[in-house]
Amino acid sequence: MYVEHAVTAVAEAHVDLTAVSGNVALIGRHTDAHVMAVVKADGFGHGGVRVARAAVTAGATWLGVTSCAEALEMRDAGLTTPVLCWLTGPGHDFRAVIAADVDVAVSSVPHLRSVAEDAARLATRAAVHLKADTGLSRNGATPRDWDELVAEARRRELLGQVRVRGVWSHLSHADQPGHPAVADQARLFDRLVRVARAAGLDPELRHLANSAAALDRPDTHYDLVRAGIASYGVEPLPDRSFGLRPAMTLRAEVVNAKQVPAGTGVSYGHRYATRVAGTLALVPLGFADGVPRAAVGAEVWVNGARHPVAGSVSMDQFVVDVGDGRADIGDEVVLFGPGDRGEPTVLDWARWARTNPHEVLTRIGARVPRRYRGVARG
Ligand SMILES: *Cc1c(COP(=O)(O)O)cnc(C)c1O
Repeated sequence: MYVEHAVTAVAEAHVDLTAVSGNVALIGRHTDAHVMAVVKADGFGHGGVRVARAAVTAGATWLGVTSCAEALEMRDAGLTTPVLCWLTGPGHDFRAVIAADVDVAVSSVPHLRSVAEDAARLATRAAVHLKADTGLSRNGATPRDWDELVAEARRRELLGQVRVRGVWSHLSHADQPGHPAVADQARLFDRLVRVARAAGLDPELRHLANSAAALDRPDTHYDLVRAGIASYGVEPLPDRSFGLRPAMTLRAEVVNAKQVPAGTGVSYGHRYATRVAGTLALVPLGFADGVPRAAVGAEVWVNGARHPVAGSVSMDQFVVDVGDGRADIGDEVVLFGPGDRGEPTVLDWARWARTNPHEVLTRIGARVPRRYRGVARG
């Protein structure tokens, strides 16, 4: 904290919490279901607790994280909103999350036993959400293993060790509108919910949709939608705009600027050479800060225009070829932002780096200070 206030950061990520709350409210207008703000991975790099507070203010009634530690971070910060943690395994110590009233997603019989036994040790019930694999082939019980899982869950309910609050699954093709896999998964999900009910379970929360489905596929909303990337203002569907507002602006100051002749080789291996005589500007952000070294054709915004990243991105810095444009030491460089000034967006970087916006955002390193605007509490 001392360091943050004493030193002027030459590179920082501005997080607009008003944008987060606006996005969560917008998602809420697209559904009658509960909205879970997915704040895993430190709120997709934005700061988990800060984002969670903004989301709750805007109507999110659930928070979604992966690890027990992330869930406890929410509780330690004083957030009393229901939290689901969904990436644990058998043999984890669940006592702290159970005691903190955090719901646990469960994907197999050994996993369920582990949670149930920890609840029994605390002489309480754990709230669990049974995860079904309806086609992503990632986490969750397959239809083949589902009967056994729901039977064991009912047995553990009758022992007073768990309560099955939710049944849920995750879509494989939500970002491809109209893909038949979405409807196939929803149909299988319906069937697995019926199997759970027939086994005596009474899950009050069925959930399947991520951001893309929350905005595009009301048939997948059930009782709750899990909104990650859309909460951060990144449009989840190609070529469609729902009016989301990107929350993060990654910016830096030019820390060196120099005049060079045409044909100057730049950065390791000289993979880039200037075409005209002009200005090179040095930006103090590198791949250790999450600037993708693999990006091809990347541009940044300097003094009102976009200019190319010149040569290899280094660990801590990269060079911009401003050409005959202007760039002086201290000038602002924007890597990405909402796009209002013509600066690139996270979606541009995802395209240049051949990845998704989730990866670009979550890789922004811990070295980059986050500065907050809007909903200032905490
Ligand atoms: C990360 C995650 C989400 C959020 O997905 P978005 O596409 O970012 O909305 C939802 N559900 C699960 C299971 C996830 O792992």
